[in-house]
Amino acid sequence: MSGINMIKNKIMVLSGKGGVGKSSIAVNTAVALKNKGFKVGLLDIDLHGPSVPHMLGLQNERLNANDDDKLLPVEKDGMKVISIGFLLDDENRAVIWRGPLKYKLLMQFLTDVEWGELDYLIIDSPPGTGDEPLTILQNIKDLAGAVIVTSPQSIALLDVKKALDFLNQMSIKLIGIVENMSGYKCPKCGELSHIFGNEDIEKKLGGKVIARIPIMKEFVELSDISKIPVENNEEIKKHFEQIAESIISSE
Ligand code: ADP
Repeated sequence: MSGINMIKNKIMVLSGKGGVGKSSIAVNTAVALKNKGFKVGLLDIDLHGPSVPHMLGLQNERLNANDDDKLLPVEKDGMKVISIGFLLDDENRAVIWRGPLKYKLLMQFLTDVEWGELDYLIIDSPPGTGDEPLTILQNIKDLAGAVIVTSPQSIALLDVKKALDFLNQMSIKLIGIVENMSGYKCPKCGELSHIFGNEDIEKKLGGKVIARIPIMKEFVELSDISKIPVENNEEIKKHFEQIAESIISSE
């Protein structure tokens, strides 16, 4: 047994559309699980916008292979990380790859990585229900489940419906929905503004909401300077402990 087969629980983080905080949720959830004492890996397959290396302060790292030609994940405080960003020479360059090349790379990430024994692998997939998430779902037969990230705006919910249908068709368990950017509390007057809408997700979609994370200035500020929000802000930490608990209890 090698590669991805050594990992007990593989969990995919999906979103209907881009910009709702999917990568942020994937990274901070992985770190929250690691801080609970689990052995954790993070696989970033957002081939066109790999933001994971920057969020973890690993933007200068590159992937190496061992004598058996297996890729060795980059380590961040004991967490194992694989990202397409580690293969790019210049993080400012757009990746223009056609389907077959993308497929080959994804398959290599799924089969040729020396992960070692892990409790959890968090997979940050690109937004939507296109080729990349489909390739993952078709090639990981024992996925433990998926977490969907969305903002509470009605246009985002339309795409979440599609993502839920996609999971249904592939018989993947929904661990829960993370409502991100769920209102902004004014630090001066305390008033809550629903900048990205205020749709009742559970009522509209039927899935369980496992965390509601407000828009927080600290989230952007910390991520931008490669500090991990879950390790540097108590309120953010509480939200991600809740997500981690939902994942742990979903087994
Ligand atoms: P996606 O993966 O869905 O495209 P990202 O995780 O890259 O989204 O997040 C997009 C931007 O939003 C980033 O700058 C991130 O720091 C910010 N962000 C994510 N969640 C929050 C939040 N709860 N509050 C404030 N900013 C957030």
